[in-house]
Amino acid sequence: KAIAIITIGMAGAGKSTFVQRINSYLHSQDPPSPPYILNLDPAVTHVPFEANIDIRDTVNYAEVMKQYNLGPNGGILTALNLFTTKFDQVLGLVEKRAETVDYVILDTPGQIEIFTWSASGAIITDAVASSIPTVVAYIIDTPRTTAPATFMSNMLYACSILYKTKLPFILVFNKTDVQPHDFALEWMQDFEQFQAALASHNGSTDSEGEPTYMNSLMNSMSLVLDEFYTNIKAVGVSSMTGDGIKEFFDAVEGEYLPDLERARALRAKTL
Ligand code: GDP
Repeated sequence: KAIAIITIGMAGAGKSTFVQRINSYLHSQDPPSPPYILNLDPAVTHVPFEANIDIRDTVNYAEVMKQYNLGPNGGILTALNLFTTKFDQVLGLVEKRAETVDYVILDTPGQIEIFTWSASGAIITDAVASSIPTVVAYIIDTPRTTAPATFMSNMLYACSILYKTKLPFILVFNKTDVQPHDFALEWMQDFEQFQAALASHNGSTDSEGEPTYMNSLMNSMSLVLDEFYTNIKAVGVSSMTGDGIKEFFDAVEGEYLPDLERARALRAKTL
């Protein structure tokens, strides 16, 4: 019955604030629909929401660092690896609760690559996705992605996560209270506008009137991204004010609606 939402994003993009916001949104529904929350960040000192399963209850990240003589990132990765060895038990709990809740939410470590480029991250993602319908919510710091080159780097990163996870993917442009995300939608819908923005930002030609290397590279890549954009959804939210959260859930539901309808049609045919 439940849908799992895996939240991923660069440190500071607002992942934890976002999880807190969707949590309170679900609680305020009529009737309330409290989600089942997993915190997978062993190094977080304060979580602004009540997690049902918390990696910090199982592994002591500071102890792991000391015991294995590791730095902060090695400590987080090792803590996640240790947790993953027990993930079959965690999944058992998740599967049981998935029958009664509408959403299972996973908050991932603050350093994005620890989850997206580790064996543990892949194991956890695949385990959850093979047991319940799962979407990835990629949280973007909208005010910090208004420069065309930064925007493209961010989209390429999102693209790489899509191809690694092969899961339904929602781009969540966060902090729209500070910076509306319409510029991003325009760039995604019309790559000529994006190329124009690139040119006005960086200059499109060198002193001899030839396109600069950076510009022709970015122009080619924006064509690649055009393909990526056709396969994903984008929503703008403010985790601060709650703006756009309903649209986010509409997008999540939308990802699995076709499946539901297909299942119903199939059932109707076989009955
Ligand atoms: P995380 O590292 O991705 O988990 O990011 P946090 O949730 O800790 O947020 C990083 C910073 O961004 C904090 O100072 C938040 O208060 C701020 N922030 C998060 N979401 C929003 C938002 O929608 N609007 C604004 N203005 N600030 C936000």
